[in-house]
Amino acid sequence: MVEALNTDLAPLDALGRLKHLREVAQGRIVFTTSLGIEDQVLTHLIFENHIDIEVATLDTGRFFPEAYALWGETEERYGRRIKGVFPERADVEALLADQGINGFYLSPDARKACCGVRKIAPLKRILSGASAWVTGLRAGQSQNRAGFALAEVDAGFGLLKVNPLIDWSREAVDAFVRENDVPVNPLHAQGFPSIGCQPCTRSIQPGEDERAGRWWWESDKARECGLHQTKSSASRVST
Ligand code: SF4
Repeated sequence: MVEALNTDLAPLDALGRLKHLREVAQGRIVFTTSLGIEDQVLTHLIFENHIDIEVATLDTGRFFPEAYALWGETEERYGRRIKGVFPERADVEALLADQGINGFYLSPDARKACCGVRKIAPLKRILSGASAWVTGLRAGQSQNRAGFALAEVDAGFGLLKVNPLIDWSREAVDAFVRENDVPVNPLHAQGFPSIGCQPCTRSIQPGEDERAGRWWWESDKARECGLHQTKSSASRVST
C-alpha cells in the first residue's frame, strides 16, 4: 500500500498530495506542526483549502516567545485553531524533580528524557487512533532526513506517515512563503533555519547543516530524540 501511495503522490504538488491522502485515508489524519517554516507551508495549504486534517502542535512549554506569537498570528490569519498538545503535568514535575529545570544539558540521556516527556508522550497521545500522520520533513534538512520517503510506515508508531515536502528545497519553501504571504517565525531571518525549544536551539553559521543549531552542545552529529523513525534506518530524529 505504501509503495502504491508513493507512486500516486510523487507526481503531485504538495496540495495535491494532501488532498489525495485525505481521499484514500479513512478516519483522523493528524499534521503535527513545530511552527517552523516548512510546517507553516503545510498549515497554509490545509487551512486555505479546508482539508479535513487536524493541525496540532506539541507545546513543550519551552518554545521561543516568537513561536507563541506566530501560533496566535497563524490562528488569526486563517481563522482556525491549531490544537495545543501538552505534556502530562505529573511527568513534567517528576522530570524536574529528577534533573532540574535545565537538566537536559547534563547528558544525552537527560535530554532524551526531557524530549520523551515533553514531545514523544504527547505525540503518542495525539496520534492515538489516527489513520495517518503528516509532517513537514524535508530531505535536505539533514543527512538523517535524507533517508525519509514521501510516504512510509513510521517504525516507532506503526502508522502511515506522509511527508508532502520531502523533495522540496529550502529555496522552494522560501519562495512559497513569499508568494503566499505565509506568516513565519522572524527567527528564520536571524540565522535559525530550524527552530525547536528555546534552550536547545541556537543560530547557525553559513555552510552548517540546517539542524546544526539543535542540541549544539552534544557531540553526536545525529542528535536525535525520537519523533521520527524509519524502518530502514531505525534512525530517530526530532522536529
Ligand atoms: S528540545 Fe530541549 S527543552 Fe525541548 S523537549 Fe527536548 S530537551 Fe526538552
